[in-house]
Amino acid sequence: MITLTGIPASPGIIIGKAFLFDIGRFHVEKRKIESTKIEVEVQLFKEAILKTRKEIEKIEEKVQQNIGADIAKIFSAHLAMLEDPILVLDVAQKIREESVCAEYALECVLKNIADNFAIMEDEYFRERVVDVFDIGRRILQNLKGVDRVSVEDLTEKVIIIAHELSPSDTAHMHDSNVIGFVTEIGGKTSHAAIMARALEIPAVVGLKEITYQVRNDETIIIDGSHGIVIINPDKETIKKYSHKQEEFSAFKEGLSCLRDLPAQTEDGFRVLLSANIGTPEEIDVIKREGAEGIGLYRTEYLYLERTDLPTEEEQFSAYQTVVTRLSPCPTVIRTVDLGGDKFLTHLDLPIEPNPFLGLRAIRLCLKYPEIFKTQIRAILRASNYGKVQIMFPLISEIDEFQQAKTILLSVMEELEQEKIPFDRNIQIGIMVETPSAALIADRLAKVVDFFSIGTNDLIQYTMAIDRVNEEVSALYKPFHPAILRLIKMTIDAAHNEGKWVGMCGEMAGDPSFTVLLLGLGLDEFSMSGGSIAKIKKIIRAIRLDEAKAFADGIMQITSAAEVQEVLEEMMTKRFGNMLDM
Ligand code: PEP
Ligand code: MG
Repeated sequence: MITLTGIPASPGIIIGKAFLFDIGRFHVEKRKIESTKIEVEVQLFKEAILKTRKEIEKIEEKVQQNIGADIAKIFSAHLAMLEDPILVLDVAQKIREESVCAEYALECVLKNIADNFAIMEDEYFRERVVDVFDIGRRILQNLKGVDRVSVEDLTEKVIIIAHELSPSDTAHMHDSNVIGFVTEIGGKTSHAAIMARALEIPAVVGLKEITYQVRNDETIIIDGSHGIVIINPDKETIKKYSHKQEEFSAFKEGLSCLRDLPAQTEDGFRVLLSANIGTPEEIDVIKREGAEGIGLYRTEYLYLERTDLPTEEEQFSAYQTVVTRLSPCPTVIRTVDLGGDKFLTHLDLPIEPNPFLGLRAIRLCLKYPEIFKTQIRAILRASNYGKVQIMFPLISEIDEFQQAKTILLSVMEELEQEKIPFDRNIQIGIMVETPSAALIADRLAKVVDFFSIGTNDLIQYTMAIDRVNEEVSALYKPFHPAILRLIKMTIDAAHNEGKWVGMCGEMAGDPSFTVLLLGLGLDEFSMSGGSIAKIKKIIRAIRLDEAKAFADGIMQITSAAEVQEVLEEMMTKRFGNMLDM
């Protein structure tokens, strides 16, 4: 029995069989080839090159059509590298001279090429190292015929053990046999963790080397509330955790009576409790949990795991489904937030050294207005079927908002001319998730209809730590006074202009912060469905003046550790072991 502790990503306990899904490593072994098979090996390599060439040509064509010639050039460069006879000749020579397998020969030759690029004076050539390995990865995949299993293909209930889960993997989990997962990388707010909470499956992330420690079919326990993973538990441990599992279910069951009760304080102050979703399939869960709206519809999932961009019709159909099912409750649709940890592989945008500081979210949309306009048309058309609010992510200055709004207004005009109905008075809001936006919230509040505070990013950018890097996850501190000040500034700024302000970052669904956020005046809390009942329970057990006085006290504290201590002490005193659930 081995007990390991990672980062708690999604609460609950599950006991089941392990399934090694993605080990993240590309094993290139130095395999010897029999002399009679050498020419076959050379031939296999040439075929892999051909296959790779075809793949890249296709991508180049699509990018040319959908994005533009500039980006397509990257792929022309990849093609040129593939067509370089030296690559083929060198690899073939190595296979023949050393009787080694094609993968190994390729790796050696690519390393040589990359080393030569790396020492060049010209920055452009130095940066081509990335391209060399990108091409190498493609050729290797074609050589090894790697075909990852898809989560939908799993035939029995399993706990997935993976190096990393892509958004496309998690997007399919809702109707799969995945009952829990553990990953080597990621933090509490990486997309996989967020998805696990949305689907209410226990998960632990950031457990380095787990893929080395577990074998297929071994029994695993995940305690997602505490980040504990137990491999090959003994009978006693299984019994103990089965008991904890029952306790957890009883706790959840106990909350179900709150489902139809309003989210209001003891003295009658009402807030809106909404849910975050990524796909229309999640609506059943959030309705069951009593969501009063959608505070964040992450539209990225429509764009992932496909080889082209979603059309206006496809998007319209997804948005219309959500909006209609939620009506008359509001749906905040966020325009697409690609980049960061959600990449569009088929566009193969340039690989950036710091994707979270790069061409992400609204920045990408403003650079490729056609992608943006198509989405806005679809959102506006859906606004005819219920209450839609539109929200732009990652706004960092006022001009960005104005540019996005100008595009939105031009799309409105287009629709009007085409006599396509939409809500002319649709509310236009922004996510406050960069420190710069929070610091100019007073100015932004004059031009927007609402704010939604995205603490996942606000914390990462304020604390200067990568939210998906488990190495620095201890520095990811929502309790930090700097974060609390930015939140307070944002709420106050919105209220001074008579605008409403919500929060859709993970802090909104964390019970540690509910009383504080209520006291600071937050109007809307948006979270994964599974947290709604817990947060409602807290809100219904407190008076607004009490929460305000508590918040005033918290804002005077100097250190994150002390803030955490005071919040947890209050929670334990008033709500027992709720923070453990
Ligand atoms: C956030 O940053 O808090 C947020 C809700 O957006 P995302 O997690 O999708 O970046
Ligand atoms: Mg964000």
